[in-house]
Amino acid sequence: MKLKVVVLGAGFGGLELSTILSETIGDTLDLTLIDQNDSFYFGFSKLDVMFGRTSPDAVRIPYRTIAKPGVRFRQETIMAIDPNARRVTTTNGTYDADVLVVALGADYDQAATPGLVEGGNEFYSFAGAARLRDVLPAFTNGHAIIGVTNKSFKCPPAPSEAALLLHDYLVARGVRDACRISVVMPFGIPIPPSPATSQAILAAFAERGITYVRDRLVSALDPVRRVAVLDDGSEMPYDLFLGIPKHCVPEVVAASGMTENGWIPVDKTTLKTRFPNVYAIGDVTSVGTPKAGVFSEGAARTVAAHIIAGVRGTEAPPAFRGIGSCYIEFGEERVGRVDVEFLAGPPTGTFTDPSAALAGEKKIFGSSRRARWFGIK
Ligand SMILES: Cc1cc2nc3c(=O)[nH]c(=O)nc-3n(C[C@H](O)[C@H](O)[C@H](O)COP(=O)(O)OP(=O)(O)OC[C@H]3O[C@@H](n4cnc5c(N)ncnc54)[C@H](O)[C@@H]3O)c2cc1C
Repeated sequence: MKLKVVVLGAGFGGLELSTILSETIGDTLDLTLIDQNDSFYFGFSKLDVMFGRTSPDAVRIPYRTIAKPGVRFRQETIMAIDPNARRVTTTNGTYDADVLVVALGADYDQAATPGLVEGGNEFYSFAGAARLRDVLPAFTNGHAIIGVTNKSFKCPPAPSEAALLLHDYLVARGVRDACRISVVMPFGIPIPPSPATSQAILAAFAERGITYVRDRLVSALDPVRRVAVLDDGSEMPYDLFLGIPKHCVPEVVAASGMTENGWIPVDKTTLKTRFPNVYAIGDVTSVGTPKAGVFSEGAARTVAAHIIAGVRGTEAPPAFRGIGSCYIEFGEERVGRVDVEFLAGPPTGTFTDPSAALAGEKKIFGSSRRARWFGIK
């Protein structure tokens, strides 16, 4: 009898999990990987798309190229999850699992920030980033705000990266002197676990005349007066607003009864949910790591090790530690790196200065995953 594993979501977490299980127990595996989309894209490619550094089509990696022993990909929308029965209903049918893994990521609730849809833009969804390709060329003078609307958001360096890349974009078009850039963030420093990374980002902001507004969220936009209203009631006029919308679990997860305080709680060491043989990994959980692909991947490795240990009857694997390296775009084709650890004690981070060499390393981060997950060289 083959082990029936159903993996919901083919993002960082779902792809890594399916790959490891196929590589190690592929001959006894019957894994179904389900995603509503026909293709994957890296979160960071949204920055490249919005600034016109590449086209939306160039960064999409089609799921149809997945060919792994024991793994079958299904492009279907998940309509219901019953974690007690480990049964999943999609637009095409029903799947029963011995082991169910929820890796459905985080969605956005743009309507939670009044005025954002009418008066602003967002670059966190692929569609939002693609739309900005037509919006940014029209911005030639005035105040651009990159504003966070809620404390829990994907890839905490991304708003700072967007500001630095916007600076380069405006310089290249010869309009930087006519523009101001501000970043509104809910933290005292850009990357709280790593003061060195934060210092480097704040120094880069200072060099480029970018204003960092600390410890504030954007609560609303007034599209008529073109002002952003912050959570202390103060107002900032804007000509271009690039928002980081409020994050939430996908609707199907909210309806499944698996969430508490908005996210799926898991055992931090094993990623097990309170439902037997049901795991949850990545952005959809409240595990305590930032919402970033590298942590979804790390969680997938831990879950894979548990599933393999179950099949082989070997000892339980080591605890998930929430370790990961994030690449940070500093502009001028240079990338820095922060290596962080979240769950073994107080969060810590080590910074490596931006360089062209790290820009190359980030490219390899992407191409190695394309090769491993999709077989694309
Ligand atoms: C601008 C930006 C820059 C970023 N840069 C980085 C970076 O440099 N490094 C990094 O590590 N992370 C980065 N991230 C974050 C990273 O993209 C996410 O944290 C990561 O994708 C989360 O992985 P996941 O597997 O948990 O979920 P996801 O990758 O979001 O995958 C979830 C999948 O579930 C599918 N799904 C959802 N609902 C349904 C449904 N009902 N039916 C079927 N399928 C469904 C979705 O289509 C999706 O493919 C960035 C994010 C942004 C927005």
